[in-house]
Amino acid sequence: MTKRLYYDRPELLEFDSVVASAETVEQSRPAVILRETAFYPTSGGQVHDTGWLTLGGGDRAEDRLRVAEVADAEDGRIVHYLEAPSKLPLAGAAVHGSIDRERRHDHMQQHTGQHVLSAAFIELYQMPTVSFHMGEDYCSIDLAAPSVSSEQIAGAEKRANHVVFENRPVRIRYVSRAEAERLGLRKLPPAERDELRLIEVEDFDVSACGGTHVSSSGQIGSILLRKSERVRQGTRVEFVCGGRAVRMARRDYNALGEAAALFSSQLWDVPDQIRKNVEESKLVRKQKEDALDQLAELMALAALHNQAETNGRKIVVRAFSDRDIGFAKLFAQKVTRAGTPAIALVASSVDPPGLVFAQTSSQTLAQASGGAPGSTADMGALLKQVLSSVGGRGGGSRDFAQGGVPAGSKINVEQLLQQAAGTIGA
Ligand SMILES: [Zn+2]
Repeated sequence: MTKRLYYDRPELLEFDSVVASAETVEQSRPAVILRETAFYPTSGGQVHDTGWLTLGGGDRAEDRLRVAEVADAEDGRIVHYLEAPSKLPLAGAAVHGSIDRERRHDHMQQHTGQHVLSAAFIELYQMPTVSFHMGEDYCSIDLAAPSVSSEQIAGAEKRANHVVFENRPVRIRYVSRAEAERLGLRKLPPAERDELRLIEVEDFDVSACGGTHVSSSGQIGSILLRKSERVRQGTRVEFVCGGRAVRMARRDYNALGEAAALFSSQLWDVPDQIRKNVEESKLVRKQKEDALDQLAELMALAALHNQAETNGRKIVVRAFSDRDIGFAKLFAQKVTRAGTPAIALVASSVDPPGLVFAQTSSQTLAQASGGAPGSTADMGALLKQVLSSVGGRGGGSRDFAQGGVPAGSKINVEQLLQQAAGTIGA
């Protein structure tokens, strides 16, 4: 088993040790095991350390080995995975370990903050923490509670920060299992070991934990609670501590500040401004839809008026270069529903270009023409026919069909309309 120096000296970031073994493991990953280490392996929700192992005086670049990941092996050894490719040191070689400070300090702030926060949720609302996760940006705890109100979030945040401000000592001690049970720990691990490592935030929280923690609650800096959401095992609460809290607040401020500048408003007025804008754009969209509907109707009536009748129906052929396919469809519907038996062959060349073929119901057309041959056509079949020649896609029913030509292609939709008109004898 590797001796874990961080158990008793979590502040130790530089240490000397001896290589116990070194080998290349799964998928050519160079891995080193030391007799003792201050590197923390991923466990208990806390993420592993990174840093350097230096051989000899470290004068040569190849003697400086980058530790990319640290993991717990099942046999109690700690494995330092090196960045590949690395020269593997020999067993028995003296080595100096250096842990990346900022990363470790951040982890200690987050982890100790989690203890305080979990204890605050118990003290105030009897909500136990069932799991802890430390991510790249934020951390989270899962509470065994079906829901957590925003008042409870604010309450736990206030209480936890109060404990931070009191700067209570955070101590490590070892007790027997029996003693731990008497102490009434917030969290007791499954019965594996006889001796337990306890982390005590003075007169506030005692829990069994193998992680690294700051030595007084003031070093947590601050605890900022973020989003909460329902998860399978209860409610997940996101939080950030210390330096992360400042970074995240800075990022939020920048985003909110930018939004406020766009509205020329104060930060706290942004939600109201957004609500107002959403309402306004809904209204404008509705007005635009109404106006387009009226325009399509007027254009349809004018087109029908100017078109001579053949076989008891009018055929309107129209290609739009300044209106999209949505408007083309609206226009086709207006032409075929205006009370005059009609066929509409309509296109739009606005990207994405498309075609709409529609007719007043084939039954009405047949009646209007007195059953003259060729008075009605199958719009779906007609569309497929003209599109198949240019690689377009589309289809529909006998009375209404819609399709498109490949976007960005140089296909002239007006020519396709002429081709369709020719087919039905317009
Ligand atoms: Zn801990």
